[in-house]
Amino acid sequence: MKILVPVKRVVDYNVKIRVKPDGTGVELTNVKMSMNPFDEISVEEALRLKEAGKCEEVVVVSIGPAKAEETLRTALAMGADRAILIETDDAVEPLTVAKILKAVADAEQPGLIISGKQAIDDDSNQTGQMLAALMGIAQATFASKIEINLPAVVTTDLRLNEPRYASLPNIMKAKKKPLDKKAPSDFGISTTPRLKVLKTEEPSGRKAGVKVKSVAELIDKLKNEAGVL
Ligand code: AMP
Repeated sequence: MKILVPVKRVVDYNVKIRVKPDGTGVELTNVKMSMNPFDEISVEEALRLKEAGKCEEVVVVSIGPAKAEETLRTALAMGADRAILIETDDAVEPLTVAKILKAVADAEQPGLIISGKQAIDDDSNQTGQMLAALMGIAQATFASKIEINLPAVVTTDLRLNEPRYASLPNIMKAKKKPLDKKAPSDFGISTTPRLKVLKTEEPSGRKAGVKVKSVAELIDKLKNEAGVL
């Protein structure tokens, strides 16, 4: 069996996100980018299934700019066998990603697709579900344990595993592993956005909390100050 793992290049989870001064989006210039953490978990799970003899090949795929090759090389250094980059500079939406992934899956015929439950940049939590629907196969979302029942799309949650680090020798070896490049137009898929971002703004700062001395005081505050009871 072959496992297909979609991996997205996103702002590193340690970076403090800054909104662009004109509110059109998030600042990406000179910002550290990494593999979406849920996708690292998916790669790890696919590798564990391969090590357990349940799969022969792990193929990783990313839709994004030329630099997404770095993300794919990281997955190859972790142990994936082969990578596919669907190159585009457009900001791709979940439905577009799902359509492209379906086209890749039609060509690759994987038995299982393991994706992250969400990309931590747009937090959509939609792609895996849309992909399963487009393919007409089963979906299991937010997996914390996997028992194989195929064909299916599985989306991964944090508790599933702890991803391995790529060792230096494996990073060197990954440079020689096969990486195919294609474009969305090769599959006849348009990346023209269907959604419009009206405005991006910082969440308002959190106010300091207060300590209450008793349950009675808490109830009183919830009733008379917060008005939630
Ligand atoms: P989302 O629906 O955007 O929250 O993303 C959920 C999952 O879909 C991610 O964890 C990835 O596995 C996959 N995905 C989303 N966007 C991309 C992309 N541009 N390239 C590859 N995989 C993606």
